[in-house]
Parts: sequence; C-alpha cells; structure tokens
Amino acid sequence: MIPDIDFGFIERLINQINDVGRDPRGGYTRLALSREDLEARKIIIETLRDLGLKIEIDKVANIVARYCPEKIDCSKPSIAIGSHIDTVVNGGPLDGVYGVASGIEAVRTIIRNNIDISKPIDIIVFTNEEGVRFPIGELGSKAMAGQIDLSEVYELKDSEGVTFYEALRRAGLDPRNLRDPVRTKGDIEFYVELHIEQGPVLESVGKEIGIVTGIVGVYWGDLVFRSKPMHAGTTPMNLRRDPLMAAAEAMIKIRDHVISSNREAVITFGKIDTVPNVRNVIPGEVTVSIDLRDLNEQFLKKTLEDIESISKGVASRYMISVEHIYRSYSSPVMMSSKVIDAIGQACKQLGVTPHLMPSRAGHDARSMAKITDAGMIFVPSIGGVSHSPEENTKPEHLRLGAQVLLNTVLILASETK
Ligand SMILES: [Zn+2]
Repeated sequence: MIPDIDFGFIERLINQINDVGRDPRGGYTRLALSREDLEARKIIIETLRDLGLKIEIDKVANIVARYCPEKIDCSKPSIAIGSHIDTVVNGGPLDGVYGVASGIEAVRTIIRNNIDISKPIDIIVFTNEEGVRFPIGELGSKAMAGQIDLSEVYELKDSEGVTFYEALRRAGLDPRNLRDPVRTKGDIEFYVELHIEQGPVLESVGKEIGIVTGIVGVYWGDLVFRSKPMHAGTTPMNLRRDPLMAAAEAMIKIRDHVISSNREAVITFGKIDTVPNVRNVIPGEVTVSIDLRDLNEQFLKKTLEDIESISKGVASRYMISVEHIYRSYSSPVMMSSKVIDAIGQACKQLGVTPHLMPSRAGHDARSMAKITDAGMIFVPSIGGVSHSPEENTKPEHLRLGAQVLLNTVLILASETK
C-alpha cells in the first residue's frame, strides 16, 4: 500500500517560494539567479537539507539533492525528479515550482514512511529553464545532457550586460569549486517531471492526468513576400501586386492544409511586418513569422515542404516573389515507454484514466530524454492559461498529480536491475 502524499506541505512550499517572487505588476517574476531566484533556492536547499539529503550544485547552478539510505548502493544510477523554479516575467504560481515541490514531497513521504527503495532518488532544480534572463531555454538541463558548451554559457549576457559567469559569482558560487553538470544514463536511470499542462487539452477531454508521449519539434522561420510599394489611390485593384494580400491568402491556405493533413501539428503566424507599414501605401514587403510544431519529424518536414510550395504558388499568382528564411529548429523527442508505462500503472493504482498526449511546450524533460529514459506527468490548467498571473489548477488535480508522481517513482524504484 502506497501512503498518501501530504498536500499541505506542497501548498506551503509553493506559497513560500512564490512569496519571494511576487511582482507588484502582477504574478511572479523569478528570473534565473536573480535576487528572488536566489532567495527561493535558499528555501529549497534548506528544505532538502532538513530532509537529510546530500546536496550538490553544479557549474551551471543546477541543484541536485540525493536521497540514498544506508541500505542501498549509492553508486547505482538514480531515479531523478526534476523541474525548475525560475519564471517568465509576470508568470504564474505553478509553472515549474509545482513539480519541484511535489518531487520534494514524494521523497519526504518515502522517508516519513520508511519505504524501501532499491536505488537512489535525485531531486533536480534546473537553472534558467525559461530562457528569459539568459537567452538559452532549458539551459540547466541542456548542460546536464552535455548539449551546450560551458564556455558559451558563461558568456551569455542578460539584458543589463551581466554574464552568466558574473551572475554565478554574484550568487556566491565559484564555478571552479562546483561539479561538472554533465550526467549520463550511468548516473540517472529514469527521469520524471510533473508539470502543469499549460494548455486546454486535458480540460477539454475531461481528464485529470496527462501522460506525455513526447515533446514536439519546433520550427521557426519567416516567409518574406516581396513586391514594390505602390500608391493606395492611383493603383486600380486589378493592377495591384499586393504582398500583404498574398501573405494573407498563403496563411489561410497553409493553415487549412495543416488542419486537413495532420491533426497533431500546430502552426502559428504570430508576427507580421509590413514595409513601409503606412495607411496609404500598398506594402512593398511583408514578413510573416512561422512557428510550426509537430511530434512527428517526418510530418513536420513534409509540412515545411508544403508551406514552401503553397506560398510559391500564391506568390506566382500575385506575380510577386517569396523567400522562405530558416530561423531555428529543435527536433521532437519521444518519452520513454518504460516511464510512460510506470505512470500508466500509477494511474491504475489510483483509479485514474490518463490521457496520452504530446507536450507542445518545451520542458527540461526534452534535454533529459537525450541521456536517459524520461517521462512527464501533466495536470490540467484551468482555461488552458499559463505564463500569466491567471495560471491555475484545481487543488484536487494538484494533489492527484503529486500522488501519481510518488507512485510512479516507487514503481520505477522497485524495478530491479
Ligand atoms: Zn515550466
């Protein structure tokens, strides 16, 4: 019989951390290694220390706390529970910190009830997940997965010109005395992350728990439609070569194509720049941003080809040119079937029917999946709102998510290897 988690502890810890990040302009602002973040980290570290965990800080300031009772071989690879406590500007009360607080409570329940485990458990608090203060998202977990160079990270600057290295020094951390962040499958056997969904899917299907199947690939690019600016009065409608109208038509065609060909992909044209952007001039140039996300890399690449041919077709009818400019791409990653199964079993133990779904937002689990078997548990976000002061989740869903996390960890911890 698996004991119940103490939800009061999770609520108190979340409130304590949010108290130091409260932003007078609304919501919570705890940028990585800022005064607020450092204060919140202190609360976390004290809590972990009170539980008797062994705490290590690595060279990018990730906090790794290990629970390894005497009975077990501490050189064995661990089960890691992770998330982040940094926020966006004016962010919500649950993004990241909910997963960290619940992870701590999971270990606390194991200790309190003296539950036998067969391998160490790590709690990881990753640095700069949001990528707001320093411009690499999931920075801490990318460093742990060996995907970024430390010298590059140390040179990153915030908006005031303070480097990551300087921010570490100001936080009283001397990188020379800190451990290397890179870990492998030999260090971490399983990684589990509990997070709010940050979208409306679970609410819309009426499910309390989501099991993440994978984290989508994200493509960013621009479509630039070019003609030349013309007088808005003297150019008759039939003699116009209007790039904004071409862009509008292309966007609708591309959207319809994405909807009809693949239900899982999402495409957003979030930013449109027109030149000269003047009321009485037919634009000469229009740039449309593309954000395309899909769990299936093959589909994603095919959609990109289709975007190219649709926009070319539209442009040629308008007798203008179009150029497709690549900006960035991160490939999709699949979550581990072992962890997905363990979360499924945990749900079964609790009488819950989970919903299998991709994550269309990035998380530390994305980088961790590159080095180990990783999985994620989602709880519903009310109204699908996140990265906003209105972000919220029903307490019963928060409680259930934390219980699913504990049960999952125990299932993975009892697996003998
Ligand atoms: Zn998050």
